[in-house]
Amino acid sequence: MAKTAWDTLIKNALVFDGSGAAPQQVDIAIKDGRIAARGRALPEAEAAAVIDGEGQWLMPGLLDIHTHLDLEVDLDPGLSEVVRHGTTTVLVGNCSLGTCFGQQVEGDQNPIVDCFTRVENIPKSVLNKCVEAVKWDNSGDYLDHFSDIPLGPNVAAFVPHSMLRVEVMGLNESISRDPTDAELAQMENLLEQAMGQGYLGMSTDGLPFHYLANEPHTDQRIPTQFASFGEMKRLLKVVRNHNRVWQTTPIRESRQGLSLFSTDQRTPVWQVPEDLRPGVDGIRIGAQSAPGVSGICGAGQYPSAQGPDPLPGTGHQFSGLVRRYRLSSLRGAGVHLQTDRQRI
Ligand SMILES: [Zn+2]
Repeated sequence: MAKTAWDTLIKNALVFDGSGAAPQQVDIAIKDGRIAARGRALPEAEAAAVIDGEGQWLMPGLLDIHTHLDLEVDLDPGLSEVVRHGTTTVLVGNCSLGTCFGQQVEGDQNPIVDCFTRVENIPKSVLNKCVEAVKWDNSGDYLDHFSDIPLGPNVAAFVPHSMLRVEVMGLNESISRDPTDAELAQMENLLEQAMGQGYLGMSTDGLPFHYLANEPHTDQRIPTQFASFGEMKRLLKVVRNHNRVWQTTPIRESRQGLSLFSTDQRTPVWQVPEDLRPGVDGIRIGAQSAPGVSGICGAGQYPSAQGPDPLPGTGHQFSGLVRRYRLSSLRGAGVHLQTDRQRI
């Protein structure tokens, strides 16, 4: 067989090129994993394989920049629901939660279960299985382990601040006091190391309904919410020095001078402290997901990528879909679930 110019030719799909321009019905030719030609009526004889894209959309992979797939990705690395919806890159370690420091189990304390159960609405029995799958104990090995599992989408990670606090202070101390100077310096060091390893930045959280789930902590919020502005400022300086990203969620109390504004009046999402104003301090601030009925972080995350709540006015129903999606994903990984409605 004669050698062809292209590996694959996709004919007649409606092509969204990612620029924001209106889609066009054109052909796309691919060679060695890259687009080699684009145009109308490209010659089929030049391609080893021809795909009829009539009636289909063809578009760049979506980047889902706010997920909590930290646990699912190790049980079901293909993340088939994510890929099926067109997402090719996911970010984990959002909202101060993650697994990059390992299991972090100490005595009867199990921080991953304690933190994820109520925030992410996942049964403890499932989370315990997830913790068993965690085989690393430092941020470098965490990133490395992604090379050893059959990932579906690409994965990138934030350093989760709640877990960073737990790593240095222990769970009980992380929800009861400020770090000592030595502890804060250790957090800076771990964060500095992680920036060198390739983490995207650091995540914190301020949502007032993010509580721990294990006794005797059930009246306490997750560790990141115990940090002073001074602690945040020192850690975020490390992030800024590397020109990385701070991911956070609305802090409802004015504890840190951040407050949520409506976006429908073209007012900014964030009001930021005087010394962190965009333009004044060169900081770019952007919304990570569009606000939806069930909250900035509650809607628009699953099952597809970022965007407005796909079911306007039905935020709670959508939350139900999210839960079903998450549970089906875990079930597919062989985790035994008693019932979707299991009390957690
Ligand atoms: Zn989140």
